[in-house]
Amino acid sequence: MKIICIGRNYAEHIAELQHERPTDPVIFMKPDSAILPAHNPFYIPDFSNDLHYEVELVVKINRLGKHIAPRFAHKYYDEIGLGIDFTARDLQNQLKDKGLPWEKAKAFDGSAVIGDFLPKTDFPDINAIEFGLKKNQEWVQKGNSEMMLWKIDELIAYVSQFFTLKIGDFIFTGTPAGVGKVSPEDELVGFIGEKKMFEVKVK
Ligand code: ZN
Repeated sequence: MKIICIGRNYAEHIAELQHERPTDPVIFMKPDSAILPAHNPFYIPDFSNDLHYEVELVVKINRLGKHIAPRFAHKYYDEIGLGIDFTARDLQNQLKDKGLPWEKAKAFDGSAVIGDFLPKTDFPDINAIEFGLKKNQEWVQKGNSEMMLWKIDELIAYVSQFFTLKIGDFIFTGTPAGVGKVSPEDELVGFIGEKKMFEVKVK
């Protein structure tokens, strides 16, 4: 099982981090050891003083595929969920400045929160899914899949040109604006529409 993550997929988030708009999707991966076990707290790793949440829609792959055409991509998933791509922003910036890979900042133990999933049939339009994150009961991120630069089916097609997708793989589809730092005792709750998808306590 692998976790494929998309970076810079929402224009407003690109603007807030003062990045350039990419010409192709930015891709990185997390290993299975990055998954935060359900109901475990998230411990801020001691190598970061600027640990950020990024709430993201997550697609669960249900079929083996490579070189998938965009028009067939919808056949490769039937559930959509929500997760957090925890990011050590300070370390990520250091690595980026040196032109080094981001893994230490993005793929460490516990860096992938994967919450509940909903059947695709629950959504009238995959490209209009509202989601968001509350930190200590206040909205910090609100997004909608219609704001994605590359939509879910386009991402599946693109990613599958490089990596064979396998049953049980996850794709984190990028974060909207509003990313920010977590501190010990913060409580993060993720929503798709009105539905609570996960709850994480920060330590
Ligand atoms: Zn992310």
